[in-house]
Amino acid sequence: MRLVLATRNAHKVEEFGLMLAEHELEGLPDHLPSPEETGSTFAENALIKAHAAADALGVPVIADDSGVQSAALGGAPGVRSARFAGEDATDEDNLRKLLHEAPAGDALAYVCVIAFVDPARGEAWTVEGRCTGTLDPHPRGSNGFGYDPAFLPDEVADLHRPGRTMAELEPAEKARISHRAHAVDLLRERLAGRA
Ligand code: IMP
Repeated sequence: MRLVLATRNAHKVEEFGLMLAEHELEGLPDHLPSPEETGSTFAENALIKAHAAADALGVPVIADDSGVQSAALGGAPGVRSARFAGEDATDEDNLRKLLHEAPAGDALAYVCVIAFVDPARGEAWTVEGRCTGTLDPHPRGSNGFGYDPAFLPDEVADLHRPGRTMAELEPAEKARISHRAHAVDLLRERLAGRA
């Protein structure tokens, strides 16, 4: 089906487009303003973005929201992952703050929620994908982004090469085990089951 992905990030449109090849995915038209992400959960923020675009365009929309949760920090930074070290923080600033505040070996979870809204059918729901891991005190690797250099995933992508952080995995390996991949699997199943 034709689906609008409510994001201005071309990288995301491409990444989701590859994972949802059986659907026709397109980004947001330029004239639409982006709503403020005022929710306190990933699901609320994903629904805010999906509803805003679906109401304006009148077509089925998907929107995602994601971040990392630390057990030692009670689930923070969570929905504030991109702004953990401040409004204009870089990925490096945010990672440094997490390494400073959370202990080595802390239980982490990447979470991705995808919201689907079809205004014609009055339909709105979310799916959630998770990828658990631990905080590695020695950041390494240059692939991925965000917290990847210090995120040691529990699921080993290649049994012959264990102990690699998310940033040391090949993009195709990360795409198999990531929170986004798990959320997309659930989205695909749910879309296939619609009458
Ligand atoms: P958003 O889904 O674009 O709002 O991303 C929120 C933030 O969560 C990003 O800026 C990163 O800090 C973090 N994040 C989400 N997914 C990942 C990932 O796959 N690797 C590392 N950091 C991530």
